[in-house]
Parts: sequence; structure tokens; C-alpha cells
Amino acid sequence: MFDRYGRPLTNLRVMVTGRCNFSCFFCHMEGYRDPDIASRELSLEELELLASAARRLGVRAFKVTGGEPTLRRDLASIVALFKSIGAYVSLTTNASLLHLHLRGLVDAGLDHINVSLHAMRESVFSRITGSNMFRRVVDNIVAAREYGIPVKINFVILRGYNEDDVEELIDFAARIDARVQFIELHPVGKAAKRFRDHYLPRWRILERLENRIVEIKYRVGLHNRPIIVLDNGVVVEVVGPVGNYFFCAGCTRIRVTYDFKLIPCLNWKGEPIDVRERLRRVRSVEEKVEAIVDSIREANRLREPYVLYPLKALPAREMRKWKTARLGLPKRDGRLCIPGERSREHIERIIAEWGDYAY
Ligand code: SAM
Ligand code: SF4
Repeated sequence: MFDRYGRPLTNLRVMVTGRCNFSCFFCHMEGYRDPDIASRELSLEELELLASAARRLGVRAFKVTGGEPTLRRDLASIVALFKSIGAYVSLTTNASLLHLHLRGLVDAGLDHINVSLHAMRESVFSRITGSNMFRRVVDNIVAAREYGIPVKINFVILRGYNEDDVEELIDFAARIDARVQFIELHPVGKAAKRFRDHYLPRWRILERLENRIVEIKYRVGLHNRPIIVLDNGVVVEVVGPVGNYFFCAGCTRIRVTYDFKLIPCLNWKGEPIDVRERLRRVRSVEEKVEAIVDSIREANRLREPYVLYPLKALPAREMRKWKTARLGLPKRDGRLCIPGERSREHIERIIAEWGDYAY
């Protein structure tokens, strides 16, 4: 299944809960304002219907996320359910409660875990997350590796907080044989208000590591995220959506909220598609699966590269760039050049005029 821009839909990002035991100051806040949050969470029955619909549409991967997904006692059952349709299943977690689930997740066949660890200093970790569970999180990451689960460490780059933790993070990743994923701060949710103060462009981190880079591989799909191999063997991925044509060009997913709504993109501002409301109108399992199939198709039609939202205010020359975007060379003018770098001017404009943009 492809959207209007020719991008395939192969991946569902499923928020299995909206609850969280941390309060990261920059969090997307995808739904925490709901006072009935726990009672409205996706049930196993609904997730089963979702999996059936997804299979019919050729969805091959599920990202289980939240809120904090480990707050759900039935987390391993959810993973097993998605695995039962032959999909690739990964989990994103703050890891504070991961020890309660590891055995079950391994048995369920989980393919990999993204663990958020945004600092290597306990005090900085606490300032960012509002939690004092730094040690527990680190121990749980080590435990996940001991169980043989591949781990990617999510590190949101936050100016004024964690730039100086980058090298120690890389050393830690090397010791436990984990990947590192540097994520640019997205200007959404709570982060939007503090974006100007704490946004640090992706290339600032890469420039910091430049002397240690031995190889840059370009990936097609999964946001076309570049994969960078460092001199100690650690593999680093860069999730840099801000003003990045390549990121949106490689998007393959839509989002499912904890209360069963579909959202074409995190930055999308329209009304979500309310699947529950549609399910109320039908009775049989087959009709329900079909209603979800139709809802996913509709969400797919609504998908738009969010990089185009501010572009609507940009000249045709910039629009053409998006349409003809190709991967850049590793070096240009003697400087590191990763996909998306061509849009630096555009990014600076977004930052300068941030208040005027609606994503
Ligand atoms: N609670 C889990 C966790 O923190 O890993 C899963 C949900 S969390 C919303 C998923 C990922 O999004 C985490 O790695 C988190 O750090 C990241 N994230 C949250 N808000 C963000 C923002 N404004 N910009 C970039 N990444 C963000
Ligand atoms: Fe948001 Fe995850 Fe932090 Fe919770 S742990 S506040 S869901 S980023």
C-alpha cells in the first residue's frame, strides 16, 4: 500500500498505553491529558483485530510504544500477538520496569528494544526525566543484552543538557554491544515551547564524532536514516526530521493511539481517525477487521511529508528540491554531509520563524 507521495505503508507505531512513570520535560505528550487514560487503553481483543487488518494490508512491522509500555502487565502477550502474524516487532521503553518483562518478551519473540537513555550522568538524567531511576535503567539495559535482545539506545539531543554525555554513551554502547540512535528534538507537545532553547541540530553531534567515523551507509526506508560506523565498531543512527526531506521521504508508518485512533504523522494537526467509533457500527469479527482496514487506508491517504508543511510557505525552488531529492555525498565542501544537509538553510529558517509554523 502506498500513499499519495509513493511512500509505502509497512509499519504501525502502536501506543499501547498513554500512562508514564517518567515526566521527560521534552516529551511528545501523545495523550496524557486524558483523565480516563487507563480505562481507554487498547484491549488485547482490539489489538488482535488491528493485527489481522494490518496483515491484510501488508504491514510487516510493529513498534510497541507509549506512554511507557512496560506499565502494561500484558506487554509480552501484545508482542506475541503481533509476532503471530509473522511481523517484525520492536519495543520503545524508558527501561525502568523492563526487568519485570524480559523473560516474557524473549519468549514472545521480540526482535529488538529501543531504550531511552538521554544522559550518562545521574543528575542530568534526573533533570531530563524527572526520575531518579538512572541506575535501574542502566542495569536493565545491560540485562536486556544479557538476554540476547538487540538494543538501540535512544538519545534525544538536548542543548544545555546532554551534549557532553555523547562520548561516554558511545563507550557504554561499545561495552554492551548496543547501537546508538541520536534523535533531534521534535518541536511537538511540551517540547515545542522549549524548542528554541534546547534544539541542537543533528550535525552538531556528528561533527563531534567526525574524527571517529569510519563509514557512512545510507539506508532506504525507515526515514532514510543514515547509519554511521565508528572506530570502536559502534553503529550510530541519526533520527533527524527537522527540515529533512529525506526523513519524510523514507517514512513508512502511521501511528495508532492508546485509545484506538489513527494519526498519519506525529506532526499532523488534523482530526485523528476514531476506529472505536467505527467499530461500534458493526458486529461480526469480519466486519470489524474490514472497518479497521478501511480506517488504515484512509489514514494512509492522509499521510503527508510534514517537511512540506512549512514548505508551503517556501518558494517553488524549495518544493522542487523535495521532489528531486537524492542522497548527498559523504563530504561536500570538506564538510560532513548527511542526508538532509542540503536543507540547512531551510532549517535555520524554521528555527528563526518557529512561532509561525504549525507543526
Ligand atoms: N516511554 C518510552 C520511552 O521514553 O522510550 C516510549 C515512548 S517515547 C514517546 C518514544 C521516544 O520518543 C523516546 O525515545 C523519547 O525519548 C522520544 N521523544 C519523546 N519526545 C520527543 C521529542 N519531543 N523529540 C524527540 N524525541 C522525543
Ligand atoms: Fe515521554 Fe517516554 Fe519520557 Fe514517558 S519516558 S515522559 S513517554 S519520553
